[in-house]
Amino acid sequence: MNYLDSTTLHEREMLVRRSLLLSLVSTASLTLQAAAQGTPRLPERAVRRDIPITNSIRRAYAAGTRDSTGRPARNYWQIRTDYTISARLDPATSRLSGRETVVLHNNSPDSLAQIVLRLDPNIFLGNTPQAAPWVPSEVTDGMVITRMTVNGAAVELEPPPAASADGARAAQAAAAAQNAQVPNQPRMLFGKTTVARVNLPTKLLPHSTTTVEIEWNHKIPGGPGSGHRMTQRWADTLYQPTQWYPRLAVYDDLRGWDTELYLGPSEFYNNFGRFDVRIDVPAGWIVSGTGVLQNPDEVLTPNARERIKRVLATDSITRIVGPEEVGPGQATQRGAPIAGEDGDRLVWHFVADTVNDFAWATAKKYVWDMTRATIPGKGPVPINMLYLPGRAQLYARAGSVARHALEFYSKQWFPYQFPQLTLQDGPSAGMEYPMVINSNQGAADHETGHQWWPMVVSNNETWYGWMDEGFNQYMNVLSDADAANQMANFNGYGQSYGGVSGAEAEPPMMWNANYDGPGFYGFTTYSKTPLMLSMLGGIVGDSAVQRAHREWAQMWMFRHPSPWDYMFFMNNALKRDLGWFWYYWLFTTESVDGSIQRSATAEGRTTVTVRQDGQMPSPVVLEVKFAPGSSAIRPMRNAVMKDSLTAIITYPVDVWFSGNKTFDAVLDFGSRRIQRIRLDPSCRFPDRDPSDNVWPRAAAPGEPAQGQGGRRGPSCPA
Ligand SMILES: [Zn+2]
Repeated sequence: MNYLDSTTLHEREMLVRRSLLLSLVSTASLTLQAAAQGTPRLPERAVRRDIPITNSIRRAYAAGTRDSTGRPARNYWQIRTDYTISARLDPATSRLSGRETVVLHNNSPDSLAQIVLRLDPNIFLGNTPQAAPWVPSEVTDGMVITRMTVNGAAVELEPPPAASADGARAAQAAAAAQNAQVPNQPRMLFGKTTVARVNLPTKLLPHSTTTVEIEWNHKIPGGPGSGHRMTQRWADTLYQPTQWYPRLAVYDDLRGWDTELYLGPSEFYNNFGRFDVRIDVPAGWIVSGTGVLQNPDEVLTPNARERIKRVLATDSITRIVGPEEVGPGQATQRGAPIAGEDGDRLVWHFVADTVNDFAWATAKKYVWDMTRATIPGKGPVPINMLYLPGRAQLYARAGSVARHALEFYSKQWFPYQFPQLTLQDGPSAGMEYPMVINSNQGAADHETGHQWWPMVVSNNETWYGWMDEGFNQYMNVLSDADAANQMANFNGYGQSYGGVSGAEAEPPMMWNANYDGPGFYGFTTYSKTPLMLSMLGGIVGDSAVQRAHREWAQMWMFRHPSPWDYMFFMNNALKRDLGWFWYYWLFTTESVDGSIQRSATAEGRTTVTVRQDGQMPSPVVLEVKFAPGSSAIRPMRNAVMKDSLTAIITYPVDVWFSGNKTFDAVLDFGSRRIQRIRLDPSCRFPDRDPSDNVWPRAAAPGEPAQGQGGRRGPSCPA
């Protein structure tokens, strides 16, 4: 009996009841009875064919904000946050001090009794939860908030009593303090993790606007490590501040306030809004960042302003500030002397209209180069590159890589949406923000790809990192191939997942990526999506996958799509019920395990018995190689001739839906002798053991790879 393979609880209950019955009746008489009554044979397994619906998406469907078209529905909404920020960098202490006004547009139908803040610098406190605590970072005093108001009312910031020798009493006191109602005063809770809540005495009404003012400061963390987001400066001469200002969390139709902690590896989920940012640094320091510089006359030298005028006319590199141009009057304007300051200072003013974050960098000795990309339907946009003089070789190809990425992805999905792109040198060398990538040429293609997701198609990366990193990895394959004047080839990608599936530590892609665990975060978030889309391309064709994906992306520009919106949109755009596909790839870690069991020829017909031992079903695709000869190869309805001796015959995935584990493909090509049959010849389906996909089996090893003129993924013999 094979009851573990049957899916439904109902079937299992029936089996349990039947076994109870067995204990009452003698085995022999029951067997006779069953035989006499013709007890139907249970399926060998069952295939789930629908997309699981969790409570959060169920809520959205009930509210009419989303629906199974995969498009934003009639009642779709999202909140908006507009920021005005003034920040001042003090290199002597590496401290950044800021003052910000955030206008929260509550476009939800809900009255909000809380505001949730993201205080990501608190990850550097050293005692907050981290998903990758082995990544070295400086311990700081975190995000210090000195003043906050909500609609003019001061927020009580007093933290709960610190832990004392009498921990229990302190905890009680803290709980009491948190529960205490202070009339008419907002109150901040849990201000020392990366998420803080502010309880409001008066609810924020639907469709109302709220003004939040915050004064804050924090130390920008330096070494000891490098890379990632845990090191944001080199000594006191280069800073790459990221997640650097208190942010208002997303409030959405799926889960309300997003209260996920920032744990390190998983990235962000941010509101769209306007950023008006003033950054005060020593004169002579060049500042780059999200948005468009508003006051070039005040901060740039006349020479630099003159050079910038030439940038959009040519693909070549224009030097704006050279390595020999250092300090006030050379790299920048002289600045204004300020009483009590060591030297002069300058305030750089940037504005970005609709973005979901703001990042910047500054250095005492940046070299500044510019070039352009030409965006279809839009014209040339500037690309800025800022790097240290000794690291010019890391930027030698960066301009052309970024240009290719901007131009290629613009054609592939939709035109680049922003007025500029900036590459910033520093310890963080592989991170993306709107209009800004902390990257040299090494990651320039990938990080530029993020300007499509999450910067415009703004998914919840914290939960579903595959919707930005995974999609990005897929399109990087396309971009690499295009840069080499080749066709992208996804053969082999899908099959390779068969070698991974079955590892106990692998979380399903729909698991919250914040808790993916160290062994599989990279695989599940980055690597698995191209494998999934390789299989989808093996079913509907790669160009159909990309066409549907493009339509989906354009539908969700500057919005927050959920995975269900993607799954249902793709189903509709591809006109296929792919519930089984999304279920197995996104909600499970199952794979295909296909094989050719036998092949027998009788009376001109060849019956190929294909076995499917995996839980994930797949179409049955057979490559039939004929011997040379004179007898005609008879056409078959579901077959196409790849060349004069090779047919590809396809049976839809439905052949597995009855629950059988074997399928007999009857080949009716006439009397021409068949030399070899291969299951899944393009290696698109994740197969635990591809070596048994060939008949006769002896033909399996040593097949030379046949080039198809494309860039090949993981090895595929044909
Ligand atoms: Zn990425």
